[in-house]
Amino acid sequence: MSLILLTSDETLMSNHHGKEFLGFGTSVPHNVIPDSIFKLIFFNKIPTKKGIPIQAPYGLRKIEAKLLDDGLNTLTVAPFRLKEYINDADVLCISTMDPFGWGPSSSTFSKVLKTGKPFVALYFQKLLESRVVIDAKKRGLKIIVGGPGAWQFRHKPEFLTEHGIDCVVEGEGEHAISKIVKMAINGENLPQFYDVRPEDAPSVEDIPAIKNPSINGLIEVGRGCVRRCKFCEVTKRPLRWYPLDKVEKEIQANVMKNGKADSIILHAEDVLLYGSKNTIPERERVTDLMRLAKRYTDSVTWSHASIAAIAADSKLIEECSEIIIDDNQKWWGAEIGLESGSPSIMKKTMAGKAHPFDINDWPEIVVNAMGIANDNKLIPACTLIVGLPEETEEDVIKTIEMVEDLRDFNCIIVPLFFVPLGQLTKENWFESEMVTDVQKELLITCLNHGIKWSRSFVDDYFDENKVSNKIISVLVKYFIGAIERKAIKEGLI
Ligand code: SF4
Repeated sequence: MSLILLTSDETLMSNHHGKEFLGFGTSVPHNVIPDSIFKLIFFNKIPTKKGIPIQAPYGLRKIEAKLLDDGLNTLTVAPFRLKEYINDADVLCISTMDPFGWGPSSSTFSKVLKTGKPFVALYFQKLLESRVVIDAKKRGLKIIVGGPGAWQFRHKPEFLTEHGIDCVVEGEGEHAISKIVKMAINGENLPQFYDVRPEDAPSVEDIPAIKNPSINGLIEVGRGCVRRCKFCEVTKRPLRWYPLDKVEKEIQANVMKNGKADSIILHAEDVLLYGSKNTIPERERVTDLMRLAKRYTDSVTWSHASIAAIAADSKLIEECSEIIIDDNQKWWGAEIGLESGSPSIMKKTMAGKAHPFDINDWPEIVVNAMGIANDNKLIPACTLIVGLPEETEEDVIKTIEMVEDLRDFNCIIVPLFFVPLGQLTKENWFESEMVTDVQKELLITCLNHGIKWSRSFVDDYFDENKVSNKIISVLVKYFIGAIERKAIKEGLI
């Protein structure tokens, strides 16, 4: 029976020492500090059993589950152990996050630091250019690529022929993958791009539950988002929430022999809107979800939440905190898009961000929600967008003021250059040469905030008695120091 291998590059096939937030570092360009130290800090090699990783990226686990359910002989393998399996394989499926480093965080870091390619892109290319993959390709291996970064290949199709990629799957792959893999096995011609249209997105029932552990216990609880920001790809997808029994099944795939998972990361575009069809949280459904997750682990965290939902139901945050925080867990995190401090530009591109509140009150909503979050031990990692189409100096000044108002809140604020995605694909990319003086001031304000809070964040993040954690925290502080020294040298701080 034909063998199908699944893998991703080393930056994705890493559990980042069990600290998911460190995964963010893979979008930093290489050469900031020695690459070997950087790799040690941010993307350690995943432990394997005979080359089979103990955890794998969640998206890859979904595809694995679908192929297995459809009776296909499928194996997920660590990229650095492909050699042991690839000669028996007919198809290699690779998941990629950001193949050329064009995603918002990597493109911003490389444009600002100017030291080279982001690791995430470097290692994806390295994988395709490895001897084992090139030799297997000559023998007739078919390569199928998918994942959140698949859109980038449309802008560089020549890369596909140069690197022997037979097909790129864009969008949610559950319905498409078995069909494409069977075509590859049967020697049929594959389309260079297979675009899963939003109307063909699978229903909740059609999305299989993962069968094996995901990186750091990441579990999807829903897909889609109702806020409809124009710059966002997610808005193209329908909103779906998984029922609790499906979530539990995926949690159980991450549970070890002691009946517990090391950590559970609940993933949705807005975990606080779990089970909701609009922008008002369904309190009971969210707290049920928290109780379920906490039953299986001492460490629950969220992938994303929204400022408006925090502000809309402070009681819900208190209840989540009561469930999550205990002797074993002192805080939890979530990525939150603040995007701007200017209601006027937000009205043009993301009017739904503040719903159910008025977008005109956005800066006050942000400060209020940040207080609620911190009071309840929720530490947000926030993002801003620099260079939105039609952004004026006045808009940027308002954003600076908002960041200054957040000075005393425990959070990280990362400014990201605008990337034309979602409904704004016809707009221009924002380049570092386009940064105005006032935008530079915004970057510096965020850098100062980041350096101040990231040091205490590291102390909280690694507040454990493990020696390995202490070593990593020293190395992370060394990295923060290197960024600080570079900023001082450039006259930024
Ligand atoms: S709130 Fe976030 S996920 Fe939802 S549309 Fe806006 S950017 Fe996308």
